[in-house]
Amino acid sequence: MLHYYMPTQLYSGLHCLDRHKADLLQMGKRCLIITGESSSRRNGSLNDVTTVLEELGIAYTVYDQIRRNPLLAICMDAGWKAHEFSADFIIGIGGGSPLDAAKAIAVLAANPDLSEAEFYAKDWNHKPLPIVLVGTTSGTGSEVTKVSVLTDSKGRKHSIHDPQLFAKLAFGDPAYTSTMPLPMTLSTGIDVLAHCAESYFNKKADEISRGFSIRGIQLLYRPLKKAAAGEELTYEDREQLYEASILGGLAINTTGTCFPHNVGYYLTERYRVPHGTACAVFEMDLLDYEMESDPEYTNTFYKNLGIDRDAIYELIGQCLPPLDIRFTEEELAEILPRWENNNSVKNTRGTVTCEQIGEILRDRFL
Ligand code: NAP
Ligand code: ZN
Repeated sequence: MLHYYMPTQLYSGLHCLDRHKADLLQMGKRCLIITGESSSRRNGSLNDVTTVLEELGIAYTVYDQIRRNPLLAICMDAGWKAHEFSADFIIGIGGGSPLDAAKAIAVLAANPDLSEAEFYAKDWNHKPLPIVLVGTTSGTGSEVTKVSVLTDSKGRKHSIHDPQLFAKLAFGDPAYTSTMPLPMTLSTGIDVLAHCAESYFNKKADEISRGFSIRGIQLLYRPLKKAAAGEELTYEDREQLYEASILGGLAINTTGTCFPHNVGYYLTERYRVPHGTACAVFEMDLLDYEMESDPEYTNTFYKNLGIDRDAIYELIGQCLPPLDIRFTEEELAEILPRWENNNSVKNTRGTVTCEQIGEILRDRFL
């Protein structure tokens, strides 16, 4: 059985924004630009966007308050700003954080009175404003997903999925990613591997999503190895990493992720571990579990990849920095229930239990 939907017009490649700027005219006359702290100024993406908007006669204002693991509360503030500015559409520029925030802000601009509960319950009276995304990391694939990951008022990360969160238009110029420091290239790169693997080993995987997963890892493998070895990346390497991140996004669009992503959210919330690293810490545990529970399916994964298990494990190991995290039994007992009825856990192929997650965490961090 196949299931596929992805309505975003995506352009990638050098100067793709300038080459396809005319598409922005269909979005409206006024927009709110959403960015993180400063990287979009340094990598040229913000300047490219504002130059194009000025050429096209589109009015804009910039909201640059989005930080890593964006807070819903900040998105609510930005939603009001968009509303007051009478924005016709939202442009998000940056990594997954500003892109995910832009999706939420598009909802909140059209429904500025929403409470947190109404937002998460998707109790939206008006449809979100059109969303345009400009990616500057090669990791999340948020440019092409219907997902927004936000931090709620209790400090918990939640992903919200809705077809209305797809961008109308997305641009990915790999040149913007060249300002990423090495640890960020590794963390975002290993996030791509995690998306592809967790999609492949998800109960919802189908022939289309598996195709994206396999090709995503194949594209990622060589340039990420090169980065992990400390070698300088060329534009072509960056392009390959970026395209792999898009394939990872297309894969998880159909399936969602498996337990490593959700367990990783906790490491990010509590210990500020960057997203990709936090999830990939558990990637070998997933692959080990799958090899044990369904060796035929798992061996086909490596065979289709054309990359063997040792090489994949070596790459994961090379991308993960040492983590100085120590749990106590009390902490473990307190957090384990959060994975009891969790979709990422339930959708992992096989039957992963909370006790098994407890053992993994105990092994790693106790
Ligand atoms: P990010 O959280 O967006 O950004 C991390 C850091 O990278 C920020 O400090 C940012 O700086 C900087 N940065 C961004 N682009 C840069 C560049 N080109 N050069 C130098 N620095 C740059 O990182 P991310 O890994 O892309 O996104 C992670 C978020 O996405 C997490 O919240 C995760 O849960 C979510 N996610 C979403 C999906 C989805 O489908 N929607 C999938 C997976 C993960 P500034 O603040 O200065 O911009
Ligand atoms: Zn991820």
